[in-house]
Amino acid sequence: MARKKIIAGNWKMNKTPSEAVALVEELKDLVKNDEVDVVYCVPAIDIVPVVEATKGTNVAVGAENMYFEESGAYTGEISAPMLVDAGVKYVIIGHSERRDYFKEDDVLLNKKVKKAFASGLTPILCCGESLEQREDGITMEWIKSQIIADLAGVSADDVKKLVIAYEPIWAIGTGKTATSDQAQEVCKGIRDLIADMYDAATAEAVRIQYGGSMNAGNAAELLAKPDIDGGLIGGASLKADFGKVVNYNK
Ligand code: PEP
Repeated sequence: MARKKIIAGNWKMNKTPSEAVALVEELKDLVKNDEVDVVYCVPAIDIVPVVEATKGTNVAVGAENMYFEESGAYTGEISAPMLVDAGVKYVIIGHSERRDYFKEDDVLLNKKVKKAFASGLTPILCCGESLEQREDGITMEWIKSQIIADLAGVSADDVKKLVIAYEPIWAIGTGKTATSDQAQEVCKGIRDLIADMYDAATAEAVRIQYGGSMNAGNAAELLAKPDIDGGLIGGASLKADFGKVVNYNK
């Protein structure tokens, strides 16, 4: 069965609650496309109003992060049950900004992935190499190490539902995009790795996004590649352009 494309916006630390609702309204008609799953991953404080504003639309809501514990004395954190109760369906895990600025490591991210699945959330698990790693020729080796560690103990049935976002760090927010061939090569490498770690059916089912300055101008070429099943989009998700990315096939 063909994998359905999934286009997710990562709003990062942008949009107050009222601005968030205004953006949902602005994009409402522009992001209609039955052939694509559309997700807005929004700041924690925007989740409740965005879930409300997207009711009855084709847009699902995601969180940008969560903690792996169920509840308790973890000041400032948000739990999976809180997200589920609020109507969240997806959660970004291990974005490079969280790995870098907030020192999230693979041991922590593995716990988050497992908790997300145990709670009924779909993780969007991010991986990607730095410019230095690409220049040193260790891109695939690095990404394999991330995925193997982040998925330790995760079942094939869960991995079939997983979304992996391949995001070269040097392409995030820089306006530099990986070429479609570079992105395809790594996404195929990730799919081959999933086949090795699990089996062919799991590799066939897992959805792999590309992220890194994807926009209305380059989405169609990237999304035409056989192993690129969608996009994780930062900057271009905050404007009308996002509708053009979602409708890359029209
Ligand atoms: C991201 O934040 O995941 C991302 C890909 O950002 P941008 O599209 O702005 O490069």
